Order: sequence, then C-alpha cells, then structure tokens
Amino acid sequence: MILSEKMSRQKLTHTVQGLNSETAYIETMSASIKIGRIFGIPIYLHFTFLIILLLFIYVFGSQSLTLMGITLGFGDIDASVGVKYILGTIASVIFFATILAHELAHSYVAMRFGVKIRSITLMIFGGVASMEEIPKKPMEELKMALAGPMTSLAIGGVSYGLMISLDLLEFDADLEGVVILLGIIAFYNVLLAFFNMLPAFPMDGGRVLRSFLAARMSYIDATKKAVSVAKVLAIGMAVFGIFVFNLFLVLIALFVYMGAKEEERATVISESLEGMTVRQIMSDAVQVAHPDMTVQQLLDLMMATRRMGYPVVDYGLVGIVTLSDTSKVQKDRIHITRVKDIMTRNVVTVKPETSAVEAVRILSQRDLGRLPVVDDRGMLVGIVTRKDFLRMVEIIEARRKGTVSVVWGQPGWDQQGKPPQQPPHPPQY
Ligand SMILES: [Zn+2]
Repeated sequence: MILSEKMSRQKLTHTVQGLNSETAYIETMSASIKIGRIFGIPIYLHFTFLIILLLFIYVFGSQSLTLMGITLGFGDIDASVGVKYILGTIASVIFFATILAHELAHSYVAMRFGVKIRSITLMIFGGVASMEEIPKKPMEELKMALAGPMTSLAIGGVSYGLMISLDLLEFDADLEGVVILLGIIAFYNVLLAFFNMLPAFPMDGGRVLRSFLAARMSYIDATKKAVSVAKVLAIGMAVFGIFVFNLFLVLIALFVYMGAKEEERATVISESLEGMTVRQIMSDAVQVAHPDMTVQQLLDLMMATRRMGYPVVDYGLVGIVTLSDTSKVQKDRIHITRVKDIMTRNVVTVKPETSAVEAVRILSQRDLGRLPVVDDRGMLVGIVTRKDFLRMVEIIEARRKGTVSVVWGQPGWDQQGKPPQQPPHPPQY
C-alpha cells in the first residue's frame, strides 16, 4: 500500500476539531525499528509485524492445506517438528522480502517521477510505502500503483514456473521442502497482487481507479468518487470478515476506510490551497504584545481580545507568547514578570509570498498553532493560524460546489474561486 505523507496535514484538521483518534493508526507507525536502507529509503519493521510473522511461521510450519495443486505448508512433510518450523520461518521471511519488493517497486517508479519516499514499513497489513506527495498526473499515479502488483505477479509467476519444473523432474524427497517453499511464494504473491488490485482506495487498485477518473474529471472529484467506492468495499469487506469470523479482514477494512477518508480530506485541503499564498489567508490586523508588558497586562489583553497567543513586537518581531507560557509564572509574580522573560524567542515565521500549502506543512510538521508573517526586513505584517486555513478550505469547497457565491460580501474573488491578493496593512498596537 502507498500512503501519502500529506496525511500528516490532517493533523491540522484534527487538532482543531479534536479528532486526534483518527490519525492514531498512522501515528502508531512510529512504534517501529529501522532495519536498513534500500535505494536510500529507510526500511522499518513495525511491532505489529512480529504478530503476523509469528502467525505465518505457525501456519507454514504446522499446516499443509492444498489449494489448486499447491501445498501451502510443511505440516505433512517427513521431518521433525523443529525442521518444519525452520522451513516455515524461511518461507515467512522470504514471503515478507517479496512484500518489501512490492513496496520497493512502487517506490522506485515514484522516485523516477521525482517523488521523495519517506520510508517503507512492514506491518501487520503487509507493507506501506510512505511518500511525501503522490504523483498527481494520472499516468504517473497509474504506473506507480501498478508497479507493486506487477512485481508480485512476476515473483509469483517465476516461483510457480520453478515449482512446476521441479515437480515434473523426478526429484528425491529432499527437494519436497523446496517445492513447497516455491509454491507458498507463488500462491501468496499472486494473492497479494489480486488483493491489492481491489479498487479500494488507498489500496493499489483504488489508485488505479482514481487515476482513470482523474483523467476525466477534476482531481478532487476523482478522489471523492474513488473514496466512495473504497468505503462501500471496506464496509462489504468488514461485513464479510465478521461473517466468516476473520478479524484480520475486519481490521484491513477499517484501515482502508480510515485511509480513504484521510486521503480525501488531505486532497481537499491541498487542492483548495494550491496556488494560494499566505498573504491571501493571513489576518493583517494583528494584536501584538510588547516585551516589557507584565504577565498581568498580557492576561488582561487575553481577556479583552480572547486570543491564545500574540507575536511580541519591539520595532520588529522578537518573539511569540501564548497562554501556556503564562502558566509557568507563579501567581504572586505576574505583576513583576515580563513578557520577554517567558516568550519563545526562536519564532518560526513565514513570508507573505510563502505558498499556503508550504505554510500548512510547517504548521503540521512543527505542531504549531500560528505563524507570524514577516516581510524581508523582519517586520511583522500579519499572522496566520490553523483556523484561518481551515476556514479558507471550507469557503473554497463551498464555492467550488456552488453553494456559496459571495463570501462575506467580498468581491474580487478570481475565476478559480480564490480570494484577491491584498496588500498588507501595518499591525495594530
Ligand atoms: Zn501495493
């Protein structure tokens, strides 16, 4: 599976709406250990990978189900239990190496389109390649999405061919283990390819579907259509999973459902803000604090203006102070402690001409609530908050859908439904 790092932008939505639980499944990915690097991409093993690895070792080492002429386990071979489990372990490790090959194939194609790959993680659901951006050109996304299943099919085909030719030869019993091993790799790789081609976005088949749709309609509409299909499939998969008592299917269904929803929101945010600058979104009427104000005066200002944080200005921008900074000050000292003693001095700032998408990325990556906007001379010209971006996304969405024609009586919005470029006003003291 391929996931977009854009998803971290969803923290923007969630932090504001208090829906942090929805990103939990992405955040749990941080409970991983790094095992190496391939093509410069860090490869991680998630702790849940251990569960699935042990399950596969158990199944391969103890079972011997035969499907379509392929024996899927070493349970019936003439060997000791220890040998069976060693063979089961070898088969499991090789199978997970082929899952890694599947993800590397996606990543290799994406890298050729100039996409940066953050990581590949092996986890309970298989592999996840995490990319900074998903290629937006439909043909590029199509090629990238198909690369994984094609690789799995190729590995499956070659293993099957080898298995058949070994089978046809008159081999002695020593080779039985190798035949079963090849059969397992063949069967599970073909299964992996087909399962991934289900059109359940963000699974590979869902990306193929979106790329087909995106060639015919807007990127947002294509994403929304692909997401609706994925949601229906995920619900179907969950119901089927409950029906056959397969918890694993239910979990995958949940993962697909959440992933589809996340990527829909991320797409809406980044597409809406595409081409916009911070200047179009920031408020230029900024309430500021002075470094020599006492904490008591700052708290009075907070009461009066009902804001949680202020840029601290002394000619130019010198810091930022928030409500949480004031909680560090003891009550009997709020009259003598000054803003400059509690403020944060190394402030992350943006410029009016910084792209909105870039500003959202900074907010999200650094987990900040607001960004002061400064000009080339370091003078404060505005401030932009998470809420400002969300409000803008909502407005642009509403205008795109045609439900709102004029917003707040502001004329001058352009043909793409973006607000006018406004010259910055000096801050108010
Ligand atoms: Zn894939």
